[in-house]
This record gives sequence, structure tokens and C-alpha cells, in this order.
Amino acid sequence: MQDIISFKKILDKPKRIVIVPHVNPDADALGSCLGLASVLKKKGHEVKVISPTDYPEFLHWMKGNDEVMIYNAGNEKAGKDIIDQAEIIFCLDFCALKRADKMEEPIRNAAATKVLIDHHHGKEDFADFECWNTKAAATCELIYQLVVDMDERQLIDKHVAEALYAGVMTDTGSFRHPNTTKHVHEVVAELIDLGADVSKVSKLVYDNNSLNRLRFIGFALSERLEILKEYNTAYFAISAEDLSKFSSRTGDTEGLVNYALSIVGVTMAAIIIEREDAVKLSFRSVGDFPVNELAAKHFEGGGHKNAAGGISHVGIKETVQKFLELLPEYKKQLHKNQKKQELYLT
Ligand code: 5GP
Ligand code: MN
Repeated sequence: MQDIISFKKILDKPKRIVIVPHVNPDADALGSCLGLASVLKKKGHEVKVISPTDYPEFLHWMKGNDEVMIYNAGNEKAGKDIIDQAEIIFCLDFCALKRADKMEEPIRNAAATKVLIDHHHGKEDFADFECWNTKAAATCELIYQLVVDMDERQLIDKHVAEALYAGVMTDTGSFRHPNTTKHVHEVVAELIDLGADVSKVSKLVYDNNSLNRLRFIGFALSERLEILKEYNTAYFAISAEDLSKFSSRTGDTEGLVNYALSIVGVTMAAIIIEREDAVKLSFRSVGDFPVNELAAKHFEGGGHKNAAGGISHVGIKETVQKFLELLPEYKKQLHKNQKKQELYLT
């Protein structure tokens, strides 16, 4: 935060505060919202977390989950009223208002002071205060640092520490991605010091499968994974029918794309999923191949260099076709990012 003194000042007296994660929040988005909400409540603020949409059950353990308002679950009117009356709105883990989905306009039009805390590229100029660092591994890492910079470290209890830990753990791919810096480990060491039970959080987030989900993963790996050797690319296309066949719940497709990326020789992996309102795409890459640029250029999306997402408003077949047709444009880059030319793609 550049102007930490003014920022601290606006939080001097109790305020009505709204905290918002991005649409379909992940552990980093929700963990940062609930962690910050808890800290601000302890300072005497009136805090409401409003999520644009719901999120997977494996995040429901976080303290404060029961009080989260899901905007698109019939709460548009009530949510808008709270936003209109808010004095401060925090936007966490996103930096362009369209990522707030149907909450975009209410937030844009709100009179409140807006605070952006995020680590994604493609920042829109809408906030009065920004804590924006694309080198940070997670928004939860930024929240920890901000609370410390505000001299409020003592307000981070075990529950806050665990919510923040979940965000750092997942956004670093369990401390495996290149964003896993010395600072990340230092923050995590502090969170452990503050009471985070890392083994418990890891179990809650990762060991939370239903039999249906495991069967679905098996099906997707054997029936839906396609390899495009020529482009060092692997992708899944999952139809709405596939999802319903396995009674798929929110979050069941999470992480699937990483299996495709783990194949030796794959530079880019994608998963294309037919959702109710649109086709959703997730991209992952290794090395310097920037999937956020591809997502922004072709699928109204964005994210990070090695993990990004986007959306498509045509059918799944047409979306897959569009994806396949744009690959020649990236062929050279997709090859360049592979040191090993001999592929294990058969
Ligand atoms: P995931 O594939 O896990 O949904 O998202 C990977 C990364 O890309 C996350 O950092 C997420 O915030 C970002 N992302 C996913 N979908 C979109 C999108 O539609 N637009 C933008 N700007 N970013 C996205
Ligand atoms: Mn994040």
C-alpha cells in the first residue's frame, strides 16, 4: 500500500465495510476476504463479505463462511443496498471490476471509498487505495503484509492465519510454482507462528473428494484428454452432459487442468467447460508462455503468465474449434518453451 498512513486513517473509526472476492472465488479470494473481515471486525467495523457467486464446499470450513452473502443467489436487491450504504469497499484478488460479475455496476456506482488488493495483471483504474503487486504469489500474502504494516499483527488469530494460509498454499500450487519466493515462506512461517495448522488446512482443501469426483477425474483423463503434439498442448473439453453424468458440484473440475500440464513436453494445458451460462476456459503453462495474454486476446479473460482463465459465449464445440484454430499463431512460442524436443506425448 503506497499511502499506508492515509489508509490507516480511514480505518481509524468504525465504518460500514463491504469486502468482495472475484466471481467463483477460490481459496485465495475467499481466504483473503474472510481473513481481512475478521481483522476489521476486531477493530470494531461493521463488515459484510458479499461474493458474486458461490464457491466449492471445500472452502466452507473458513471462519465467517456462514455469514457470506452470495449475490447471485437471489440477493441482488439486498446486496446492492448494502453496497450503496457502505463507506469502504474492498475488492480482493481481482483488479478489473468485470471480475465482480453482476456486482460490477453496483460497485462502480457506489459512493464508498474503494480499496483494491490484488496480484493479477490488467489493473483497471477504479480504486482510491491500491495494494497491487503482481510479484506477490497470493492476495493472502498481501493481506498478511498489510495487516502487519498497519501494526495490527496481533489481530491475526488462528482462524485468520488458516484462511490466509489456504490462499497462499493453493495459489503457489502447494509451494511448487515459481511464485514461491523467500517472502512466501517467511509469511507462512509467521502464519504457523500465529496458530495455523498447516496439515489440517491441507487436508480440508485437498482431501475433500467425493467418489463421484474421483470417477469424474478418471473419466476425464481417459475419455476427454486430447494431446496436440504439434503444439505442445493438451486440453480437456467437458460438456454439461459429462458434468451431470457424474453429479458434478462446484469445484469438482478444480485442478484437473494440472494433470494435462504435468505431461512431459506439454507447454500449455487448457480445460474448456460447458457451464450453464457460458463456456469457461482455464489455461496453464510452463516457462515463459503467457496464457494470460492468450486469454485476454481471445477469451475476454486474464490472470497470470502461467495460470489464466477466460470465457466464451458460443457453444462448446465452437469454442474448442476457436481454440484449435488460434494455436498456429503460437506454435513457435509453444515449441520454444520446451527444452526437450523429444516428447512423451504418445
Ligand atoms: P482458474 O483457471 O483457476 O479459474 O484461474 C486461474 C487464474 O486466472 C486465476 O488467477 C484467476 O483469477 C484468473 N482468471 C480465471 N478466469 C478469468 C477470467 O475470466 N478473467 C480474468 N481476468 N481472469 C481470470
Ligand atoms: Mn489469487
